[in-house]
Amino acid sequence: MNFDFGVEEQQFIVDVRQFIAEQACHDDADDVMNPNRESDSILSDTPARKRFNKAMAQRGYMGMSWPEAYGGKAMPGIYEYLLNEELSRVGAPLIGKGVGCVGQTLIRHGSEKLKAEFLPQILKAEVEFALGYTEPSAGSDLASLKLKAERSGNGWLLNGQKMFTTSAHFADWYWLAARTDPQAKKHKGISLFLLPMNHPGITITPIETLGEHVTNQVFIDDVWVSDDYLVGECNNGWRYICEALDYERFTFYTFSPLEEKFNKLMQLIKNTDRDGVKLAEDPCIRRDMARLATELETAKMLQRRVIYVASKGEVPSIEAAECKLYSTELHQRLSQAAMNFLGEQGLLHKDDADAPMGGKWEWSYRATPLDTIGAGTTEIQKNIIARKKLELPLEY
Ligand SMILES: Cc1cc2nc3c(=O)[nH]c(=O)nc-3n(C[C@H](O)[C@H](O)[C@H](O)COP(=O)(O)OP(=O)(O)OC[C@H]3O[C@@H](n4cnc5c(N)ncnc54)[C@H](O)[C@@H]3O)c2cc1C
Repeated sequence: MNFDFGVEEQQFIVDVRQFIAEQACHDDADDVMNPNRESDSILSDTPARKRFNKAMAQRGYMGMSWPEAYGGKAMPGIYEYLLNEELSRVGAPLIGKGVGCVGQTLIRHGSEKLKAEFLPQILKAEVEFALGYTEPSAGSDLASLKLKAERSGNGWLLNGQKMFTTSAHFADWYWLAARTDPQAKKHKGISLFLLPMNHPGITITPIETLGEHVTNQVFIDDVWVSDDYLVGECNNGWRYICEALDYERFTFYTFSPLEEKFNKLMQLIKNTDRDGVKLAEDPCIRRDMARLATELETAKMLQRRVIYVASKGEVPSIEAAECKLYSTELHQRLSQAAMNFLGEQGLLHKDDADAPMGGKWEWSYRATPLDTIGAGTTEIQKNIIARKKLELPLEY
């Protein structure tokens, strides 16, 4: 069986690599691209990365899968996946939430006013969004969210708290889920709003994570939002949130960081001596590497299945759960292997001049657990597989 990409897809990959090579010549390239950076910490939060996003927009990479009527190119979603693969291979910012979750939902459900206001800005990479779903007591069970939206004049008065909002500290707009009908069943009374992030009633407090990914708590106090900024129908937000997740199946999990990490580990064992012998000659390390190489192939196949099912227009929920479960844990195993091979040197932080490979492995060891939490924890992926694939009874 041949899982390679087609001719047009391969041409597109060449185009993206050419674009990246051009960008690598810019003075600010070190801030934009850093293959040693952990993937979860690549945010468009610096002037250099914002400039890079605008260059991507000029190249026509924003909204490729959007309908032509909204400035897109109606290209299959796989091109957005291929773009993100190449970007994450070099540690550059990805196309982001504006093109995916926000843009796709506005195109399908937004009012003409919201489309006219936001879609052109997204296509030009002039606007950043933060996604406000999770709350202190609503993460895995997101439909339990409580942030209150009460009717007030021609709009809504919002009060409550969000947790783990990535990008809140530099985003322009907040894509926020709130409870508009507390009497309705929990999946039914949720609505989506767009709020300007600089509203005086919004307070943002950073949360530092183990892996140096900055996320935030966000407090919403008496924030009034007009009906114009309600997305789609009132109380239909849960449907939009689920749909947006389906759209993002193409762009969720890039494989290249895993592959790059494995290649770097190969480089490490070939170039590192211990007691005058190369690590690559150590039988235990060779055995571990052979196992990891096989697991890498498995991760690649699981990921290609997600793309294959999505490209047929089906929702790959089981395939995506299997892929996320396996590849995020493999990321952790790779980092652990590198730490084991390096011994005490592996503990050196990236700020230490003696840290092997710029401290990549110690950082990776701290950062990879985050991927097993965001976008649905490992346990939730297992529940999906148990319920949908194995048809085991529902968890209680
Ligand atoms: C780095 C990072 C960035 C994030 N960015 C964003 C963001 O931008 N916007 C946003 O809205 N959210 C964001 N999140 C939040 C993320 O989606 C949640 O952390 C995640 O959904 C888990 O929710 P929780 O933290 O409340 O944990 P909980 O849901 O409370 O889970 C706690 C533990 O219980 C387990 N558990 C829960 N339910 C079950 C069950 N039914 N069966 C078995 N085990 C279960 C979980 O697996 C976990 O181990 C981010 C999180 C991280 C770590």
